[in-house]
Amino acid sequence: MQCEEWLSKSEKILTDVKEWRKAHPKATFVEIEDEVHRRMMQLEAQLLQDAAQESSSRAWGKDMGEEAPRCSRCQVPLQARGQHARTVQGNGGESVTLLRTYGTCPHCGESFFPPR
Ligand SMILES: [Zn+2]
Repeated sequence: MQCEEWLSKSEKILTDVKEWRKAHPKATFVEIEDEVHRRMMQLEAQLLQDAAQESSSRAWGKDMGEEAPRCSRCQVPLQARGQHARTVQGNGGESVTLLRTYGTCPHCGESFFPPR
């Protein structure tokens, strides 16, 4: 995500909270806290996704100049089969979608999502 997107997302949260506050003038501190927290979680999930994506977006394969991971059973390099989205759950229960390069072993045909 680009910086401008971050700024507009943060601004959106700020605006949303202000509007929510106007609509809920008698909200208690706990209610306000909940509301702010709920919105910040969305930003947090986005940040988590972006940060995790940084390290996983690099595809491997013979064209990438990076050594392919090996099959844990046969120790032969895996063949890259493109990127697949994988959804993981964050600590706060938010789901984050990551792109992982998926590979298959040319020897035994086993499929892998290498952990990177
Ligand atoms: Zn294998």
